Amino acid sequence: MKALVYGGPGKKTWTDVPDPTIQSPTDVIVKVDTTTICGTDLHILKGDVPAVTKGRILGHEGVGTITEIGASVTSLRVGDRVIISCIKSCGHCVNCKTGLYSHCLGEEGASGIGWVFGHLIDGTQAEFVRVPYAENSLYLLPEGVSDQQAVMLSDILPTGFEIGVQYGRVKPGDTVAVIGAGPVGLAAISTAGLYGAATIIAVDLDAHRLEKSREFGATDVVLSSDADWKEQVMLLTDGQGVDVAIEAVGIPETFTMCIDIVRPGGNVANVGVHGKAVQLHVEDLWIQNINISMGLVNTNTTPMLLKLVAQQKVPADSFATHHFTFDEFMEAYDTFARAAETKALKVVITA
Ligand SMILES: [Zn+2]
Ligand SMILES: [Zn+2]
Repeated sequence: MKALVYGGPGKKTWTDVPDPTIQSPTDVIVKVDTTTICGTDLHILKGDVPAVTKGRILGHEGVGTITEIGASVTSLRVGDRVIISCIKSCGHCVNCKTGLYSHCLGEEGASGIGWVFGHLIDGTQAEFVRVPYAENSLYLLPEGVSDQQAVMLSDILPTGFEIGVQYGRVKPGDTVAVIGAGPVGLAAISTAGLYGAATIIAVDLDAHRLEKSREFGATDVVLSSDADWKEQVMLLTDGQGVDVAIEAVGIPETFTMCIDIVRPGGNVANVGVHGKAVQLHVEDLWIQNINISMGLVNTNTTPMLLKLVAQQKVPADSFATHHFTFDEFMEAYDTFARAAETKALKVVITA
């Protein structure tokens, strides 16, 4: 089969590799019909994730059709259309039992690490993928939900919702600011309304992304390159600060921006993946009663989000800005890597 293979920092090829095979009775093999590229894949290609070794097939998002099932798999059948979750879950370890799939203790990849696809085991940017713990890690796709909609449920929609909106404890009437209107920030924007946020402020450097964020439910937008960006946010909150500030970039500056605009007693939910240390001024924050949360997605809300996508209550299609076929994989990466220029959000790549 063909797959997108990591060759060390800066190197990738769409090339021939052996087909995956069932290795454990709880595995299935999925023919990947649709996949996409994540910002994390670009981090890996820069060499920022040393756990990813040469020869690894990248990708942790995908939708496909089951072609083969392991001996102990009873609830899935060959021919089933499924969403491949970016997080493995064995379903029976202590962390899986509490919904903390991000720290599944199953041995696959590494015990305690939920994100294994395209990281510690071969991923979804391939014609076929082996899915471990298939009965827990796959979600059956109902009729009426397209591949393009479903692939947004592998990672970005649950990530924005769980780590931004749920961890940020958004509640009815809240003013929520989302710093960073990339795919995951937009996923938080598009799901903040589920908990009744009254005002959703998108903050970004890119005017085009801000305009786009209105399509996802942003009620107000603030260009963060404006010298008075903070005053603009404060004006929208009667000078009080926002109830919830969601960080969806992953650099110290944007984390500090969240701290700067959150009201006393408010919540800062960090979704961004940070590559370097952030200074945390506990000496100032304690007296403000600020809550700070962060984490890796569990994907335990995928079934719920799937229902809302099926009912068109979450605008999953709006994330898809570019379309490619598997033989245009390198072009898809190029378009996604130059997102500021190409205005790419999610590139949808189909077999
Ligand atoms: Zn991802
Ligand atoms: Zn587990």
